[in-house]
Amino acid sequence: MSDSQISRRTFLAGTAGASALIVMHPFAAIAAPAQAHLRLMETTDIHVAIYPYDYYGDKPDDTLGLARTAALIKKFRAEATNAILIDNGDLIQGNPLGDYVFYEKGFKAGDIHPMMAAMNTLGYEVSTLGNHEFNYGLDFLTKSLAGANFPFVNANIIMGTTLGADPLKDKTLLPPYKIVEKTITDGAGQPQKIKIGFIGFVPPQIMVWDSANLVGKVMTRDIVQAAKAWIPQMKEEGADLIVALSHSGIDGDQQDGMENASLFVADIPGVDVVFTGHQHLVFPGPDFKNIKGADVANGTLMGKPAVMGGFWGSHMGLIDLLLERGEDGKWKILSHTAEARPIYERKDKKIVPTVADVAEVEAPVKADHEATLAYVRRPVGETAAPLHSYFALVADDPSVQIVSIAQTWYIEQMMKGTQWEKLPILSAAAPFKAGGPSGPNYYTDVPVGPVAIKNVSDLYLYPNTIRAVQVSGAQVK
Ligand code: MN
Ligand code: MG
Repeated sequence: MSDSQISRRTFLAGTAGASALIVMHPFAAIAAPAQAHLRLMETTDIHVAIYPYDYYGDKPDDTLGLARTAALIKKFRAEATNAILIDNGDLIQGNPLGDYVFYEKGFKAGDIHPMMAAMNTLGYEVSTLGNHEFNYGLDFLTKSLAGANFPFVNANIIMGTTLGADPLKDKTLLPPYKIVEKTITDGAGQPQKIKIGFIGFVPPQIMVWDSANLVGKVMTRDIVQAAKAWIPQMKEEGADLIVALSHSGIDGDQQDGMENASLFVADIPGVDVVFTGHQHLVFPGPDFKNIKGADVANGTLMGKPAVMGGFWGSHMGLIDLLLERGEDGKWKILSHTAEARPIYERKDKKIVPTVADVAEVEAPVKADHEATLAYVRRPVGETAAPLHSYFALVADDPSVQIVSIAQTWYIEQMMKGTQWEKLPILSAAAPFKAGGPSGPNYYTDVPVGPVAIKNVSDLYLYPNTIRAVQVSGAQVK
């Protein structure tokens, strides 16, 4: 039987019969002497979702919120002899709380970003950056990260404007990796040392998505290329285990500079565990059943344990490892399980939360949460017709049209008094919230009457930068 064929049940039954440990840790693996159980937990794509609250709809939401995921983290940590919590990026942008901090509140001396304040209560070991970390610029990012009580790693964002031939000579924006020496308890109840290396990756496409913030300052390297260069060095420095924090999804078609490269990170010798994210999906799960190399029954990518913990705190990624110390003194993975645990269930078409809020995660964010509510409720206009997106994919739609009108107006203002003033303007807009994989509640619906900031944010979710491109009639045609 290969590692990946061991079921969770067999795995949990373990290799030794130490029943006293079953009482102490009913769900943890039972390890023999010279073996140890190590539990790795992931949050990913939190996007400032701390309270289980939908700021656009201005109502509670049981499908999201780190304050809920935290209940799973505490439960699974309490069950385990040895547990480590990591985050996989996309932290500081993605909801009106994030916008409130950047556009309204800003940073005063001593301020801590609410996302970091919430995470600081949970004992994270390490995190990496997501692509959305760059939406508000590098200066804001640096100030935000400064408030975290845990480190960040990333191996493929490089300072400067030219990419050298040797990735090991890159001057990276952050430390490319970190090797931590942990003391874990083995199956005999004895303390043991283990060196765990964490390395982080972001989609190289940040250079396009956030070109205004990044071009001329940093560059990106292909994820797999960076991983192949740094991982042997981590091994040389004595890492027993290498854990990839890949803020990148799972795609089966390998290409240079690919956005979703986690499958090919898993394939690199030396990589032991892969935490994925970015796609806002769940792995192991049916979305990936047709990808060669992704085993959705056993939770592996190329045979390595891997997980993607949904988004906005919807799931906690859970990887359990049974480790054994070899004759060379190095720890190796004997067996593993991977799964994504949700914070809610669907019962009779209703969302039913499976966990309650953890108050200590919300406490340091309470003032900013309330200020965000006041911010999003501020009226900025009025509409005489309802603006909803229910038919946005099949017909002309006012929720898309108003965005197009706003873009045209904005560019007109920018062109006033310039050589381009008389040019006609074409405006392209696409539906954002139109159901689909995000579920039957994923629509915009602004009723007749006052329009508040929450409605504007709902009509246009992303902090994109508007651009006008001069083209000829022939090019348009
Ligand atoms: Mn994300
Ligand atoms: Mg992302």
